Amino acid sequence: MSLLKDMMLNIGVRDIIDIFLVAFAIYKMYILIKETRAEQLLKGIFVILLLTNVSKWLELYTTNWILEKAMTVGVIAILIVFQPELRRALEYIGRTKFLSKSFIEIKREEEEQVIDEIIEAVASLSRQKIGALIILERETGLNEVVETGTKIEGNVSSSLLINIFIPNTPLHDGAVILKEDIIKAAACLLPLSENMHLNKELGTRHRAAIGISEMSDCVAIVVSEETGGISVAERGRLRRYLDVKSLKNILMKTDDKIEIKQNFIARWRNKNEK
Ligand code: ATP
Ligand code: MG
Repeated sequence: MSLLKDMMLNIGVRDIIDIFLVAFAIYKMYILIKETRAEQLLKGIFVILLLTNVSKWLELYTTNWILEKAMTVGVIAILIVFQPELRRALEYIGRTKFLSKSFIEIKREEEEQVIDEIIEAVASLSRQKIGALIILERETGLNEVVETGTKIEGNVSSSLLINIFIPNTPLHDGAVILKEDIIKAAACLLPLSENMHLNKELGTRHRAAIGISEMSDCVAIVVSEETGGISVAERGRLRRYLDVKSLKNILMKTDDKIEIKQNFIARWRNKNEK
């Protein structure tokens, strides 16, 4: 008991950092080899290590001797057999961006890649006048809506998004729900907006986009089947006749800043023209 107490008292910041670093390295290693053939190998090594210790503890000297020898030979064998994987792992470490870039920058870059895929799909759907409804889930969970559709759980790609909305295919009707870089579901049913003041020319697709944006913080992108026009609904407000560039600004959340800047310039002009 007192030993444990001593240990607890002697733990310093350095030890915590040490433990954290080792845990992080093991975690990264695991992610790297997960679902590769190295995963089985590691399990194998773990079992041999365990058996070696058990045999030693049970004083089974011959078994222990063989297992220990097997481990020594095994290490060399691993280096030879897994040379391509080890090479890949080292290359991966060399390429790791966190040495030169902040996590926030990487996150932003990944986000931009996903947004570019979405935009490519929207632009193509708009050119071909294929109706589409794409919901980007943010903080508010949309699982109730996801459950009305067909689960997909696939990575966001422009080709998959385009494919979903091709007319007369099973999933084209309804909305697609994206969460970060995952397409969660397609053919989902959204609540229609009950706003009485909406433009009468807006049909159910646009009303569904506005409806979901009223009850959550999502961003809903609509491509009109009739005109190919692109619109975005956010917080119950629909912005229509968007081009690809302004869509990107909205999705990257840079449009707020632009709006503020434009307002500022307008006010400044007004003041100077008076
Ligand atoms: P468009 O400009 O593309 O014609 P619109 O706003 O006029 O759009 P409609 O013509 O009524 O809308 O579009 C019908 C399509 O919108 C449906 O086939 C369906 O795919 C989609 N839709 C309609 N209601 C919903 C809803 N509640 N949830 C999800 N998708 C819906
Ligand atoms: Mg219509």
